[in-house]
Amino acid sequence: MTDEPIQIKFDDNGLVPVVVQDAGTDRVLMVAWMNEEALQRTQETGQAHFWSRSRQELWRKGATSGNTMDVREILVDCDADTLLLRVDPAGPACHTGRESCFYRKLQPSVLETLFAIILDRQANPRPGSYTVRLLEAGEDEILKKVGEEAMEVILAAKGQGDRRLIAEIADLVYHLLVLLAARGLSLADVEDELAHRGIRLSPVRLPGTSRRESTG
Ligand SMILES: [Zn+2]
Repeated sequence: MTDEPIQIKFDDNGLVPVVVQDAGTDRVLMVAWMNEEALQRTQETGQAHFWSRSRQELWRKGATSGNTMDVREILVDCDADTLLLRVDPAGPACHTGRESCFYRKLQPSVLETLFAIILDRQANPRPGSYTVRLLEAGEDEILKKVGEEAMEVILAAKGQGDRRLIAEIADLVYHLLVLLAARGLSLADVEDELAHRGIRLSPVRLPGTSRRESTG
């Protein structure tokens, strides 16, 4: 750090983009804009303030939703034209009620695709589909399958080889996804829970080398 005060470079509209990150989990929550006043209010109050480009007004995050953000620190990038706000959010950052605005992937994972297929079977039942039969059989039947598949995972691990183990874990995961669908829950709910535990897609923090409950 130099002693020079950093001059934020606001764009032609007097705005600077702000990346907002959960200081507890490091999850990126949202991107918003600040003008000079929003930055000043944020620094004065310790609560995130932004400039709404659509409403053309200053707003305090959470003013209506209650989902305020306490600001732990404000970082400036090398060009001084983007800010990083590290915050403790009081609730979901996104207006959709999701923890992060970045809940969609341009390229869904295999798990997400599988879950989408299960949801499609649920919405558009077709005869002959195992998933449809399972969903129609009800939660108790699904739970029974989860129990059976879990046991098969254990048996495979105890002497049936890796290939068999992988196949049985895949079966278990599939049935867990069906259970989520039957309960009206989503894969994102599980991902949010994992994110809350501080598990990140980072190669440097492997399970077992870090405190999993770092964020409570
Ligand atoms: Zn959002």
